[in-house]
Amino acid sequence: MTNVFEGALESLNALGKAAKVSGALLSALSQPTALLYASLPVRMDDGSIKYFPAWRCQFNDLLGPCKGGIRFHPQVDPNEVQALALWMTIKCAVVGLPYGGGKGGVQVDPSTLSRLELERLSRAYMRAMANFVGPDKDIPAPDVYTNARIMAWMLDEYEIIHNKKQPAVITGKPLGMGGSLGRDEATGRGAFICAELLRAKMDKLPGDLSVAVQGFGNAGYHMAKLLHESGYKIVAISDSRTAIFREQGLDVEAVYQHKTNNKLLKAVRLHEGVFEDQTHKKISHQDLLALNVDILVPAALENAINETNMANIKARWIIEVANGPISKEADDYLNKKGMIVLPDVLANAGGVTVSYFEWVQNRMGYYWELEEVREKLAIKLTRAFEEMWLYKKEHQVSCRSGAYANALHRLDAVLGQTTALA
Ligand code: NAD
Repeated sequence: MTNVFEGALESLNALGKAAKVSGALLSALSQPTALLYASLPVRMDDGSIKYFPAWRCQFNDLLGPCKGGIRFHPQVDPNEVQALALWMTIKCAVVGLPYGGGKGGVQVDPSTLSRLELERLSRAYMRAMANFVGPDKDIPAPDVYTNARIMAWMLDEYEIIHNKKQPAVITGKPLGMGGSLGRDEATGRGAFICAELLRAKMDKLPGDLSVAVQGFGNAGYHMAKLLHESGYKIVAISDSRTAIFREQGLDVEAVYQHKTNNKLLKAVRLHEGVFEDQTHKKISHQDLLALNVDILVPAALENAINETNMANIKARWIIEVANGPISKEADDYLNKKGMIVLPDVLANAGGVTVSYFEWVQNRMGYYWELEEVREKLAIKLTRAFEEMWLYKKEHQVSCRSGAYANALHRLDAVLGQTTALA
C-alpha cells in the first residue's frame, strides 16, 4: 500500500501532467527542499526525561517563505509531514498567496501530557527549529491538537532565542501577542464560503441541504456553525469518540457548548441557559460517512474515505475541510460516479489566508477590524473558487483538477522566470 506522501506525489504528477505543466516543475516538486528531524528532550513532571520525535518540512518556496501548521499527534511521521507540506505548497498557490508550503509535527499524544509538560514540549520544538524557521523563511501555525496557547509558548521561545520581538514568525497566536481577529474561525468560514459558492452554482436553497460533519474541532465546528446559521440542516456530527445522528437537525452551538463543558458529544438544545436532551441516534464513525446526505464534510484526518469504504459513500457533494481526507483511489472512484468533491487545497484554505493576513498585520504593525478580515477572506476565496470553476468547466474536469491546474501554472510561471538562461 502506498503511504500518504507517495499518494500525494502520485496525485500531483497525474494532475500536473493533465494540466500540461513543465517536467521541470514536476521534478522540482518531487521532493521537499528541506526536511529537519529533531528528537525533543522534555522534562516530565515526575522528573524523568522523555524524547519526542519531531519534524519540520519546507516543501517548496518558489512563491515565498514556507507556511504551514504544526501537528501534535501520535501518528505524525515524516511521510505525513511531507504530504501536508506538499499540499500547503499547492494551497497557497491556489489562493494566490505569496507563500511556499511547509509543515511540522511532533509524534505525541498531547492528552497524556500535563499543561506544564505540553509547554515544555512546545518550547523544545521551537528551540530545535529556531534557526530553521523565521518570518522570511518559514512561518508555522496551529494544526491538529495545537492551538493559540501553544503558538504563544513557541513565539515566546523564539523571541527569547533571537532577543527581539518577532510576531510574524508564527500565526494563529493569541490576539494580545499579535494574532488576527477572525483567525480562529477562518478555516471553517473559508469552507463555508466555498459551500455557499457551490450551492449557488448548483441552484439549491440552504434549507434543502442536509449535512454530515466528521470531526468537530476548530475547523469542523466553525464550518458547521456557519452552515447551521444559514439554514442548512446538520444531521450528523462526530468527534474521535462518538458519532451522533438526528434527522430533524442538530443545534450546532448547543452541541458544541455541551461538548466543551462536559467533554461529551450529545444532541442537546439550550433552553433558558439549560441543556435539554434531544432524541438522536448514536451511530458508528463509518455509518456517518455512509449517510444519505447532500453534503459530507470530512474535517478530521487524512484518508477517512479510502478503498475500503468508498463504495458506501452516498453524499452528492463532499467538502474536504481536513487535509487529504480522500485517498487517490477513492477520489478517482467518486469522480467517476459523478460526485462533486471540493478539494482541501481550496475548501480549507481560509486558515492559511487569514494566517497570511495576520503576518501582513504583524509586519506593518497595524491591525484590522474583524469585518475587514472577513471581507478580505471572502474576496480571496471567491476569486480562487471562480478560477477553479472556470478551469473545471472549460476542460470538463474535477474541481481538484481545476484547482491544481491553476496552482501549478502559477508555480510553473515563476519557475520559468527564475531558471531562464537569458
Ligand atoms: P482539531 O484538533 O481542532 O480537531 C480535530 C477533530 O477531529 C476533533 O474534534 C477530534 O475529536 C476529531 N477526530 C479525530 N479523529 C477522528 C475520527 N476518526 N472521526 C471523527 N472525528 C475525529 O483540528 P482542526 O484544526 O479542526 O483540524 C482538522 C482538520 O482540518 C485537519 O486535517 C487539519 O489539517 C485541517 N485544517 C485545519 C486548519 C486550521 O486552521 N485549524 C486549516 C487547514 C486545514
